[in-house]
Amino acid sequence: MATSFYPPQRILMGPGPSDISPRVLAALARPTIGHLDPLFIQLMDEIKALLQYAFQTSNELTLPVSAPGSAGMEACFVNLVSPGDTVVVCSNGVFGGRMKENVERCGATAVMVEDAWGEPVSVDKAAAALAAHPEASVLAFVHAETSTGVASDAAALCALAREHGALSIVDTVTSLGGIEVKVDDWGADAVYSGSQKCLSCVPGISPVTFSPRAVDHIQQRKHKVQSWFLDMQLVMGYWGGAAKRAYHHTAPVNNLYALHESLVMLEEEGLENAFARHLRNHRALVAGLEAMGLSMAVEAPHRLPQLNAVTIPEGVDDAAVRSALLEEFSLEIGAGLGALAGKTWRIGLMGYASNARNVGTCITALEAVLG
Ligand code: PLP
Repeated sequence: MATSFYPPQRILMGPGPSDISPRVLAALARPTIGHLDPLFIQLMDEIKALLQYAFQTSNELTLPVSAPGSAGMEACFVNLVSPGDTVVVCSNGVFGGRMKENVERCGATAVMVEDAWGEPVSVDKAAAALAAHPEASVLAFVHAETSTGVASDAAALCALAREHGALSIVDTVTSLGGIEVKVDDWGADAVYSGSQKCLSCVPGISPVTFSPRAVDHIQQRKHKVQSWFLDMQLVMGYWGGAAKRAYHHTAPVNNLYALHESLVMLEEEGLENAFARHLRNHRALVAGLEAMGLSMAVEAPHRLPQLNAVTIPEGVDDAAVRSALLEEFSLEIGAGLGALAGKTWRIGLMGYASNARNVGTCITALEAVLG
């Protein structure tokens, strides 16, 4: 007979999910109430306001999609892209490739702007692609590439889209809560994130925000959005104006308690303090790694403080090191992905996991395992 599952207490320093605060875990265990209960509706209003704070936006259409980051990505594409459209997609890692899949599944053409894994998106190349494709209606890119640990210049890329008269779709799954995400200042149009990275909440929720320009575009669509679940015109009936909330789907009530708690914690700390903490712990980790003779895989100006890509030294068995860390120290770090498999480790310092204790544990454990 099956019995209850009791996972061990890990230290999650991979590419996500990250460690979750006991406050957030406790919020999950509170009594479930109805998803149309007046108290839950009040909570939804607070979640929306807290997400607006995290995204630094006043966008009315700001809400948590009841599904993981990939669904937030899909929500942006299916609502803004119609069959026959052209979309310029910047790709410098795994998630740019996933954007291309989304564009093609919308029946549109993806014009790819490729940059090397480990490099940021080239703004010049994106500009050239938009100039060569005046029909392009959307520019899509990943702000923080989790597969490589690289940050791209979101402000410049969103400005480029605006100059061209295109909408921007921005992936902030790994950036939100860890580094500046300035939706309104950037003039970004459709932005999605994930709950399990720097927000340190349970996986499975995807905060999204749409600019008034994006909302106009959605309202003027000629083709029905291919996904019923992610059609924002329908979702707006539940998450939209507080006056008349109607059933669309059953919200993941307890997960939203958890998201609320993690956003309350972010607001209590303050965005600027959270960014400063991520930077401070990143610097300490890099100093420790370099003192051990290891080197970072990404050039300093493009590094993400919350996701540190480290070059695996010649002759070191990647998988053996990661399993020793897990077995002996209960410490999870991430493997390289795709082109970087076996070449890099990805050490996350995300959200609640970005603290001095984790930096020390990781350095000590790596030193012990590498010998
Ligand atoms: N985009 C980026 C940059 C990510 O790092 C991830 C997940 O790691 C996703 C999208 C997809 O999110 P999820 O795995 O929650 O579906």
